[in-house]
Amino acid sequence: MDQTSTQTSTQAAARPQLAHLTAALDELRAKGTHFRLRILDDQQAPVCHYDGRQVINLASNNYLGLANHPKLVEAAIAATHAFGVGSGAVRTIAGTMRIHMELEEKIARFKNVEACVVFQSGFAANAGTVSAILGKEDFILSDELNHASIIDGARLSRASIKVFRHKDVAHCEELLLQLASEPGKKLVITDGVFSMDGDIGPVDKLAPLAEKYGAIMMVDDAHASGVLGRDGRGSIDHFGMHGRVDVQVGTLSKAIGSLGGYVCGSKDLIDYLYHRARPFLFSTSHPPSVAATCIAAFDLLEAEPERIERLWANTRYFQSELKRAGFNIGGITTPATETPITPIIVGEGRKAMDFSRALFKEGVMATGIAFPTVPEGKARIRAIVTSEHTRAQLDQALETTERVAKQMGILA
Ligand SMILES: *Cc1c(COP(=O)(O)O)cnc(C)c1O
Repeated sequence: MDQTSTQTSTQAAARPQLAHLTAALDELRAKGTHFRLRILDDQQAPVCHYDGRQVINLASNNYLGLANHPKLVEAAIAATHAFGVGSGAVRTIAGTMRIHMELEEKIARFKNVEACVVFQSGFAANAGTVSAILGKEDFILSDELNHASIIDGARLSRASIKVFRHKDVAHCEELLLQLASEPGKKLVITDGVFSMDGDIGPVDKLAPLAEKYGAIMMVDDAHASGVLGRDGRGSIDHFGMHGRVDVQVGTLSKAIGSLGGYVCGSKDLIDYLYHRARPFLFSTSHPPSVAATCIAAFDLLEAEPERIERLWANTRYFQSELKRAGFNIGGITTPATETPITPIIVGEGRKAMDFSRALFKEGVMATGIAFPTVPEGKARIRAIVTSEHTRAQLDQALETTERVAKQMGILA
């Protein structure tokens, strides 16, 4: 940085306009929950380097190791050579490339639905869809642990939001009954897999309930895609609920290894979103490399089902060893994990963050998560194994986690 720009930034920092942000950050520091970004020096892999330190990586959503799979890299490069690095416009103006359509057709076939639309991210897919399909006279019945992008979409829609207790189908029905005489539309919405606890949404019970009350059923399968169901088709496939969920959301940013989100459903749902979903209308579409990468990823899900088997074998091993060591990995005061997402409950926010930092120093990368992402008193580190971790890497991570936890008094 040259002299002039240093002076400029120093002056900017001294201006009073944003002093409330500095005060808020000081408060986080006092609570011990302020964090710095960890910087990945190489690839998103089971063993990699963050901030120059080699670690066993238990922090990514790269469930199947696709984020750096050679076939996906090749597909991205080939598409870049053929079609360039950018799409040049939003989808509705001039930015719909043939490869975008190919990806959507591929996902629709994979998910066994009429049609699909891809958004820039899973966040945009949820927020853009919920806000587009409902209005202020309508009602949203939402699980209390649903993802932030659903909550933001619900707020943007201006519909009334009714929150039901986590996975509590009876409570959802109670709310539906209370709304029975309301003329507005009702939308029941749940995550397929909950991102902080790793438990599975009761799609098999909520979909029939929504049918009974004539409500729209929507499932966000961000953490279920590539993980649950045949070849990773998600929670609807896992529960055999094909044809009974009106709006299926998934992400291309987790198991699929790249970036994006999608909505699957009827032709009219998708056509309507083309006309009304604001991220689709007002934000530029993916570069062709992203679409090509995702197409290659869906091919791989079907061609290499052993990846998902390895993911689940690693999950079972890792979780049973943690339990054997005496860790609380959910199921007592928090939901019990049913997927590779493994919360190690610590309790106090500061302690969880300290635990995560101590593990990092010893070569294990697992994210500390505290309030407001999870309730007060239920802070944790969250570990996610992938299909690509070796048994030796898992054993080393387990040994380190146990040793550090004992040093810190987290384990007796
Ligand atoms: C990660 C996540 C999203 C957002 O997906 P992105 O593609 O990362 O924007 C949406 N919903 C849930 C449940 C998630 O876990």
